[in-house]
Formats: sequence, C-alpha cells, structure tokens
Amino acid sequence: MRAILMGPPGAGKGTQAELLTQHFTIPHISTGDMFRAAIKEQTPLGIKAKQYLDSGALVPDEVTIGIVAERLAQADCSNGFLLDGFPRTAAQADALAKILSDLNIGLDGVVNIELDDKNLLERLTGRRVCKQCTATYHMVFNPPLEPGKCDKCGGELYQRSDDTLETAKNRLRVYNEQTEPLIAYYNEQGLLRRIQGDQEIEKVFHDILDVLE
Ligand SMILES: [Zn+2]
Repeated sequence: MRAILMGPPGAGKGTQAELLTQHFTIPHISTGDMFRAAIKEQTPLGIKAKQYLDSGALVPDEVTIGIVAERLAQADCSNGFLLDGFPRTAAQADALAKILSDLNIGLDGVVNIELDDKNLLERLTGRRVCKQCTATYHMVFNPPLEPGKCDKCGGELYQRSDDTLETAKNRLRVYNEQTEPLIAYYNEQGLLRRIQGDQEIEKVFHDILDVLE
C-alpha cells in the first residue's frame, strides 16, 4: 500500500496513521521523522537540513525532496509506505511523482480526512492539562470527573496557550491555505479519496480501508 494521509490539525490523523501502518505493515513516513533520521545518520542531505534547522530557517524544497527520495528508496518501503506531512505543496507533489516514477512505482491513493471548521475548533480547543502531573483531558471526548480538577492528583486543569481559539483558528487558516492547491492537484489526478472524519475512530479507519483496497 502506497498512500498519502492528509487532514487538518484535530482530524485524528495521527491515530489513523498508526492504525493504517499496523494494518498494512508499512512504515509511517513523516517529514519530521525523516529529518531526524537523515540528521542522525549524517547523510549529505541530513547535514544540509541540520544547517537550516539550526539557523531557524525553513528547509528548502530541494533538500526535503532529496531526503524523501533517499527514504523511499530504502528496503522497508518495498512493501509500501504511508506518507504524512509530505508533500505540502503542488511543487512538492510534482517532485514526489518524479521520485516514484524513477522507482517505477505509483500511489494507490491520497486520503484526506475532512471535518468542518466548527468541529475542528471544538476538538482543538477542548484540551486541558493538569498543572501538577501534566495528565491531559478533553472537555468533550475525555472530560475529568470534576470540572477543572485532575482525576489522578486533584491538580488544577488549564488550557495551554497553543490550544486557545485564536491560535486554533490561525492553525486552520494556514493549513487550509497551504493544502487547498494540493487537494485540487490530487483531485485532478483522480487520486484523492475524501473521508468523513466526524465519526468513531473505527468507522473512519474502515472507511479508509474501503477506499484504499
Ligand atoms: Zn494531575
């Protein structure tokens, strides 16, 4: 199975990625993991990427694309892979198509987990963290027994600054702006598979299997 997994923050992409990679026994390839691995192994591109990251700059496309190419050529990808966080732009998608054609393989599908903004905002702003023991709760999906109080240690629960409504709205806006062209790109190629994310985790998973198999 060779697939790309996409979805906005809060859509449960991480959970689905875990289920899918277990189901198909394929590596979960995220950009962050790839950078860390290339840097650790000190590949020429890893060394380059580290220079950009250390200086706080964005890693340029050519370096990212090079690292993806190195990663997809590794033996554990022969059975397939799940890409996550790459490509981010239509230009990167073109580069990926070139990498895959050089390897003589194609994509089975691009899964996009979709949820409306109202739903996503509820998910993204519902998290509460315990001040004392850092246990996490969710106002909707995993609420504490007593409001504002940690079940485990009785500590006070608070909302992290990156979970506020303003920050969440901003994250979604940036995500939508960035990925709209990419969604259009894969739609044109006939590879896009839209999945309704507002369902039980198991149901979302089975919907994904249905469109991929
Ligand atoms: Zn606690």
